[in-house]
Amino acid sequence: MRILLVEDEKGLVITLSDRLRNEGFEVDVADDGEKGFEKAASGSHDLIILDLMLPKKSGLDVCRDLRQNSVNTPILMLTAKGETIDKVLGLKLGADDYLTKPFEVMELLARVEALLRRSPASSNGAAPGGFSFGNVQIDFKRAEVAKNESPVELSAMEFKLLQFLVENRGEVHSRNELLDAVWGYDAMPNTRTVDVHIAWLRQKLEENPKRPKFIQTVHGLGYKFVGL
Ligand code: CA
Repeated sequence: MRILLVEDEKGLVITLSDRLRNEGFEVDVADDGEKGFEKAASGSHDLIILDLMLPKKSGLDVCRDLRQNSVNTPILMLTAKGETIDKVLGLKLGADDYLTKPFEVMELLARVEALLRRSPASSNGAAPGGFSFGNVQIDFKRAEVAKNESPVELSAMEFKLLQFLVENRGEVHSRNELLDAVWGYDAMPNTRTVDVHIAWLRQKLEENPKRPKFIQTVHGLGYKFVGL
């Protein structure tokens, strides 16, 4: 497993790369946003740890440009305390998770492992072949989604959430249950993350995102997927 660490704080780079290598990861480092983007765009990493405040190009810009170039490698964003980053904005640009500095290295490792586990690229085709609803087709093996026969770009977490909802269709899932099942850890204090990802799935897949037919809200309880 190869991880790209895009971070300009030398001390943190040393600590994190040592620790990740000890855990058996190959670690590639970039110390500014431009280099980070170039390395990430090669698509040869399983995960990107991306600092928000970087010289030359911000983490948010790197994230957005990668997604626009169809690089769907999972991204864990690092933000410093006090940086007024709107989490929703970051998720909107395609980051899969967040961690605020200072953090415990154990916490970072837990997030890294959860993202890698949930990444469609590492699911090894264990999921059933495909599923369709409305004008949407999902290919679980290839982790590809199309609407009206045109490809739809989903982040790793959006795809995992969709997959979970579809595989457990008809059942109501609370936000906490979705956090556990899809994100795979329970340290995330904020169930708002689930709402944001649901909103983006609706935006991308529903004919009328304001009146979703398939990804439904069950008031006071959570969400459920309704389809054949
Ligand atoms: Ca920084």
